[in-house]
Amino acid sequence: MKSETFQPKLKAFALGGIGEIGMNAFVLEYQDDIILIDCGQMTPESEMPGIDLVIPDFSYILENKEKVRGIILTHGHEDHIGALPYILQEISAPVFGTPLTLGLVRVKLQEFNLNGKAQLVEITPRSPISLGAFYIIPYRVTHSVADAIGFAIETPLGNVLFSGDYKFDPNPHAGEYFDFFTVSSYAEKGVLALFADSTNVERQGNAPSEINVTATLDRLFREAESTVVVSAFASSIYRIQTIINLAEKYDRYIFVTGLNMVRNINMARDLGYLNVTDGRLRDLKDIEDVPPRRRLLLSTGSQGESLSVMSRLALDDYKWMKLKPGDTVIISARLIPGNALDILQMINHFSDREANVYYEGIENVHASGHAYRDDMKHLIQIARPRYLIPIHGESRHLRAHRALALELGMDDKNIFILKNGLPVEFDGAKAQVGERIPTGRVLVDGKGVGDVDKDVLRERLHLSQDGMLIAILAISRKTGELAADPYIVTRGFVFVDESEELLNRAKKVVLQAFMECGCKTRDDWSEVKEEVRRALKKFIKVETARFPMILPVVIEI
Ligand SMILES: [Zn+2]
Ligand SMILES: [Zn+2]
Repeated sequence: MKSETFQPKLKAFALGGIGEIGMNAFVLEYQDDIILIDCGQMTPESEMPGIDLVIPDFSYILENKEKVRGIILTHGHEDHIGALPYILQEISAPVFGTPLTLGLVRVKLQEFNLNGKAQLVEITPRSPISLGAFYIIPYRVTHSVADAIGFAIETPLGNVLFSGDYKFDPNPHAGEYFDFFTVSSYAEKGVLALFADSTNVERQGNAPSEINVTATLDRLFREAESTVVVSAFASSIYRIQTIINLAEKYDRYIFVTGLNMVRNINMARDLGYLNVTDGRLRDLKDIEDVPPRRRLLLSTGSQGESLSVMSRLALDDYKWMKLKPGDTVIISARLIPGNALDILQMINHFSDREANVYYEGIENVHASGHAYRDDMKHLIQIARPRYLIPIHGESRHLRAHRALALELGMDDKNIFILKNGLPVEFDGAKAQVGERIPTGRVLVDGKGVGDVDKDVLRERLHLSQDGMLIAILAISRKTGELAADPYIVTRGFVFVDESEELLNRAKKVVLQAFMECGCKTRDDWSEVKEEVRRALKKFIKVETARFPMILPVVIEI
């Protein structure tokens, strides 16, 4: 008689990064071993007022922390490393990354005083590491940040490839060529599953090389007759090198601003990822002593963040320098769709200063780091996976990625569109979707992690859209009668000076609601408050068609 044997499964699921662009964190689990691939954050959406950043819910990792063999990082972008400081306060797993990636991690951990505590282990392409049941071979990929890698992971149930963020750049900086050899050698051995980046599936053709950006920036530098301001992401070490090279070529002194930009440049110079001639970088306080023709201001703030140097420059409110008509402003970064309004506003303000502003869409000042459609096809063709799991994308990207694989002849049932927390499980013979693991988003506001919930967000949204009205009732403890006229305070609701008449009538409404409430209920002020709130809400709606948050306050005197 044949007894049914227990077949261990390989379980793969995302804690973040599926159905959204940002907070990438992917879990591979086999029996008692878990590895976490990347640990990113996401910029808050506009419906999240006051939130600094969003990170994945790591409950599953914390509940299984004794199984976690390590965190392996593909590259140093925020959407892949930004949540590390939060998880490293809870678990002590080693973190593996390439030298530049770990350099960016160190800068980040420094802010949280975690640098001495975290165990950071340097890895290099093609030098394998063993973590429990997983044998991991990092391989070089090209992306918009230097020192990026993907992973080939050998598991007891087959080899999986994890693309990381990649494109095929034929002219990468520092000769960091995409390692097609490792990918195709795994194709020869057999690839069980490919987990691949879906970001740019809507863009036809091949992703442009970083070298195209260099040519455009070179022309803009050549044509510039006065001050040049360039904004880029602080982690875009390639781009920063390009800009530094142009400053050398056109003999401009570089003034660096933005805390992360300064820190990352120092770190990358120390590690040998950035080359700058001594004396080329100058102190900001000297900027007015250098003729405009020889100035380059290099800054963060490409997304129009309200307190950034770029926004302040645009508003003529920057301490060290003023823009003059004819100055050149280059935003050499992706315009993230969620930030579009802020960025366009900033560009308008630069235009008010009569500066020449160049940005993605009107000039080739930025090249995406993500594979385009034809590149994505190419990856599937060389990896020849049995199963494809599109990741790193919103719902429509994942589905378009699937459609593309179907065009290549892949079988629909071998492609899994997952959700965060929804695992695909391999048992050696087949793959199927497993039971969903609870996941979610954790909102970070200042020092609070996860203490802003849906209710708080709803209140913030309400306040930000409609303002508030507070009705204060001073009630005599002895008689239960009003000791003074009701008092009304508003914020963000109406312009008080012009609304005296309305607010006076509102006071009468409060008074009447209080009277009609009846003596017997006055022991319980919550009932009085509810009556007042209801009456005011109705009155305000009829008079103004607005819906401010209404807060009745009772003070016993
Ligand atoms: Zn990236
Ligand atoms: Zn990414």
